[in-house]
Amino acid sequence: MSGVRQFLALLARNRLALAGLVVMGIVVALAVLTPVLPLADPDVTNTSNRFVPPFSEGALLGTDHLGRDLLSRLMWGTRLSLAVGFAAALVAATLGAAIGIIAGYYGGRTDNVIMRGVDMLMAFPYILLALAIVAALGPGLINALIAVAAVNIPFFARNIRGITVGLAQKEFVDAARLSGMSDARIILTEILPNVVPVIVIAMSTTIGWMILETAGLSFLGLGSQPPQADLGSMLGEARSALITNPHTSVVPGMMILVIVMAINLLGDGVRDALDPRLKSGALNRPLPATLVAQDRTPVPAHADGILTLTDLQTQFHVKDRIYRAVGGVSLNVRPGEALGIIGESGSGKSVTALSVMGLVASPPGIVTGGSVHYRDQDLIGAPYDALRRLRGAEVAYIFQDPQATLHPLYRVGDQLIEAISAHRHISRAEGRAKALDLLEAVRIPNAAARINDYPHEMSGGMRQRVGIAMALANDPEVIIADEPTTALDVTVQAQILSLLDDLRRDRGLAIIFITHDFGVVGQLCDRVAVMYGGRIVEEGPTRAILDSPMHPYTERLMACVPELGGGRRRLEAIPGLPPAVNDLPPGCAFADRCDRVQAACRQGAIPLDRKGDRAVRCLFPVTEPQEAAQ
Ligand code: SF4
Repeated sequence: MSGVRQFLALLARNRLALAGLVVMGIVVALAVLTPVLPLADPDVTNTSNRFVPPFSEGALLGTDHLGRDLLSRLMWGTRLSLAVGFAAALVAATLGAAIGIIAGYYGGRTDNVIMRGVDMLMAFPYILLALAIVAALGPGLINALIAVAAVNIPFFARNIRGITVGLAQKEFVDAARLSGMSDARIILTEILPNVVPVIVIAMSTTIGWMILETAGLSFLGLGSQPPQADLGSMLGEARSALITNPHTSVVPGMMILVIVMAINLLGDGVRDALDPRLKSGALNRPLPATLVAQDRTPVPAHADGILTLTDLQTQFHVKDRIYRAVGGVSLNVRPGEALGIIGESGSGKSVTALSVMGLVASPPGIVTGGSVHYRDQDLIGAPYDALRRLRGAEVAYIFQDPQATLHPLYRVGDQLIEAISAHRHISRAEGRAKALDLLEAVRIPNAAARINDYPHEMSGGMRQRVGIAMALANDPEVIIADEPTTALDVTVQAQILSLLDDLRRDRGLAIIFITHDFGVVGQLCDRVAVMYGGRIVEEGPTRAILDSPMHPYTERLMACVPELGGGRRRLEAIPGLPPAVNDLPPGCAFADRCDRVQAACRQGAIPLDRKGDRAVRCLFPVTEPQEAAQ
């Protein structure tokens, strides 16, 4: 029941589908009520009253070439067209789905024979096939219905067979077979419930088309026969008076348009509401900038860095669950400084980084609190145009997977030129020269030739260098590198890190380096912030933290890193899993995994205790701050 409610709620959110539903509701209600409505007999002719114009007395929509009341014929015709269209869709869906399920479930030779037959049917132009079927069976509405249903069966069979092939390999079907269920029972109880939404989607998007096809056959005189009215035959009869008395064509034509439009809008809405990927929001087009909660109170910058995060809070609202991915992060990045953010997957590092420039996908992301200052400007809630000007020009990103960030169909040189010209007006020749400089700056060998490469023609390391070149394209002040070396092998990783370090020193760049690897932090970063459960749990100069970690989590994280030449020692995995950020414990988020935990740790929020250049969020740190500062 809740599934039906969810479906209706999703459908109601789509205004066009809702409009289609309302229109179709009215049309169907009128069609059902037609026999009891006070209408004239649709088939009674009155040649003295031919072609009476609409809005005449006693003939609201006028009369046709035989003086028959057009309103009455329209209502009866609509009733018939809807009934035939729906019946054809039902027949095609039922038979097509049955064929598709049998082919997909049994596979092998059965599948081959059935699907080759379906392919042969699909090889014919469907309208010619429909005409051939009606010609063989003879004109008439039932024969038109059979023809329309027959030409649509292959469409349903193909769709449902594809879904069934996947389902037939699933574990729950194997389990049903092992439990001794017969094939018929497995098909009815395991396969069919899973293909019903696909059948409904296919029906909802084709039913309008089937009404049109039926009307088309009637228009050609192969469907309903005189004096019986359906929308197609009304149009066919009005052909000869199209110029002199256009209302006889416009009335049924408008009704066909309204019905097909309404069904298609409703069908699109039904498809969106039933598609699991659309239902989950995975295919929603995100907003150009992350949503900001209206009750957010901007916070003044607390330090004089080039990029300052103050109590930043970012959440994901998925249905009735709230994921607090970033729960009040404060950071300060100075010009030319490399700051590392380290933590396990799911600790909030990347969401923190993406929140800076409003790149967290909304929905479901939303910044609920805090501020991010670039120099004096608060970026949270800044107008989209302002963010666009800053993105890439002042704050640029390097992402983990260059394969995913580079467009596969464009040459890398063209992509670099586009990145440059997004922020300044330059000629193509100037753009190409600058792109070449950038590729040389990131040490791509034979840059003049590689500038014409497509991304797939480059190695992973080369692609990442292009990603770095793109980040440098507009000489930004800050680069946020989100695990840029994770997908690379160690040798290439070392080259990329050394390249980033050189670029930072040459250009005075500030770098925020997101990683889960303390080795990388030690090589590149001046300071490091350790994140856990969406919060910073320790922060300080890299050397000091590497020498004397204060937070038990930092200590355990460092114990996971192997040291070359460090002698034999056991690599300790951290027991347990990070907490789910939609269900954080009231006290310390690390308590369940901490070997120093005490009752006080679980009793309330633990503040970040700052002393000198070190800060730690722990009641019983491994090393006391005073000791560490010495
Ligand atoms: S506050 Fe307690 S549980 Fe949390 S890290 Fe410190 S000692 Fe461990």
